[in-house]
Amino acid sequence: MSPYEHGEVFVTEDGAETDLDLGHYERFTDENLTKNSSITMGKIYQEVIERERRGDYLGKTVQVIPHITNAIKEKIYSFEKTGVDIVIIEIGGTVGDIEGLSMIEAIRQVGIESNIEDVLYIHVTLLPYISGSKEIKSKPTQHSVKELQSFGIKPNILVCRTEIDIPDEVREKIALFCNVRKESVIANKTASCLYEVPLMLEKEGLANEVCKQLKLQKNNPNNEEWEQLSEKIKNISNKKITIGIVGKYVKLEDSYLSIIESLKHAGIENDINVKIKLIDAEKVNKENVKEMLKDCSGIIVPGGFGNRGIEGKIQTIKYVRENKIPFLGICLGMQMAVVEFARNVLKLKDANSEEFDEICENPVIHIMYEQKEITKKGGTMRLGSYPCIIKKNSLAEKIYKTNEIHERHRHRFEYNNKYREIMEEKGLEISGTSPNGQLVEIVEIKDHPYFIACQFHPEFKSRPNKPAPLFVGLVKAAMN
Ligand code: GLN
Repeated sequence: MSPYEHGEVFVTEDGAETDLDLGHYERFTDENLTKNSSITMGKIYQEVIERERRGDYLGKTVQVIPHITNAIKEKIYSFEKTGVDIVIIEIGGTVGDIEGLSMIEAIRQVGIESNIEDVLYIHVTLLPYISGSKEIKSKPTQHSVKELQSFGIKPNILVCRTEIDIPDEVREKIALFCNVRKESVIANKTASCLYEVPLMLEKEGLANEVCKQLKLQKNNPNNEEWEQLSEKIKNISNKKITIGIVGKYVKLEDSYLSIIESLKHAGIENDINVKIKLIDAEKVNKENVKEMLKDCSGIIVPGGFGNRGIEGKIQTIKYVRENKIPFLGICLGMQMAVVEFARNVLKLKDANSEEFDEICENPVIHIMYEQKEITKKGGTMRLGSYPCIIKKNSLAEKIYKTNEIHERHRHRFEYNNKYREIMEEKGLEISGTSPNGQLVEIVEIKDHPYFIACQFHPEFKSRPNKPAPLFVGLVKAAMN
C-alpha cells in the first residue's frame, strides 16, 4: 500500500501490516486487534491458490464462486471459535466496486446461512450537501441501496454521513425509497472532533436499532469514559501550539494518521490544542531550516523507507538538537538522529544507514542480522510488539514511569552496536534496549529539554483515553 494513496500502514500487536482503519477500530474500542481482523482479497486468493496447488480440490473446477466466497466465509465464521458475541465485518470501498464483489456475495450468503435475527446489514452512505441551494441530496443513497439490492442484500440500517442535521422530511424520504423504517435512518454528522462520534451515534439510536433488530437485550451502556473525554475536548483551553512533522508524505495527512491522532490525544491530556504542520523533508536544507521550522514548538521526524528526503530530516535534527527544540524521532526518525549525531558530533562525515549507502565507511545504522538472508520483502520486517527495557534515571523512564514497555515495530535496520561506546561518550545515551541488551530501542540526549528517539512506533498504541507517553512528553516540553 502506498502511503500516498492509501495512508499509513497500521501495525497490530501480532505484527500484521494492515489498513489504517484498524487503527481507528483500536482507538475507538480500546481493544487490540490481531491479524485475523484484516481480511484482504490478496490473502484470500493466496490461500485458495495454495490449496489448489496442494491438490485440495483435485478434480474440481476452482472458481470465484464458490471457492473464493467460501474462503471469505471461513474467515468470518472462524470468529465463532474465539468466543466473541458479535462480529462486525466492514467491507471497504463503495458498493459496485469490482474489488468488493466477492466480499459482498460472501456476506449475502452468510445472511441466508444464519438465523434471520443473527445477521444485520448496515449500509454507510453519503448525503451530499449542496451549499448553494442549502439542500441535502438523497439520490446517491437511493442509488447505492438499489445497487446493493441488485446483489441480493437489503440493508437493515442506513448510516448517513452528512454535513448538517437531516431534516425530518429527508429522513422520511430516505426510509420510504430505501425500504427501511425511519428509525433505521441514522445521521452520522461531521463532528468537530472524531471522538465525539460514538456519543452522537448513541444519541441517534444506532445501538438501540442494532440490538432491536438482532434481538439482543440492550442494557444501558456505560459511556462514562466517553462522556468525560468529550467534556474534556469541549472544554479544552484556547491555548495552541504547533508541532511539525518533517516527512515525505506531506500531501496526504492519512500517511501519518496514527501520529496525528497521538498528538491530538497528547493535546487533550495537556489541555492544549495541537496544530499540526506537515513539512516536506525534501524541501528542507541548511539554509532554510530555521525558516521552515519557525512556527513549530516541537518536531517529529517520523518513520519511512527510501532515501527521498533523508538529508532534510538530518538537517532538521541538527537544528533541533543544537537549538534545543523538543524532538521525537520515530523509527527512521531515530535512525536519522543517530546518523546526524555521528556526522556532526563524532565528525564521521560519511556516516549513514546501510539502507541508503551499502558501502559507506561508517554504517551507524545497519541491516539487522536476522534480516541479512531475507530476499522476499513482503511481510518479513521485524514486525509487531516486542519488549524494551528502560534505563534507570533516563528521560525515557521519566516519561514512561516504568522500566519495561511493549511497543510495536516495523523495520529492517537497526543501530550498529559498534558505535555504542563513542556515541554514549559524546552524549547520545542509549536509554532503552531489547531485554538481552543487544538491540537499541531508545536514544536520548541529556543536555536538551526533550530529545528522544525510538526504533519502535509509539503512535500505534495511543488511545484517546490512554495517550502514548512519548507524545504527551513532547507536547508538554513544547508548551514549555
Ligand atoms: N526504513 C527503516 C528500516 O527499515 C525504518 C523503518 C520505519 O521507519 N518504519 O529500518
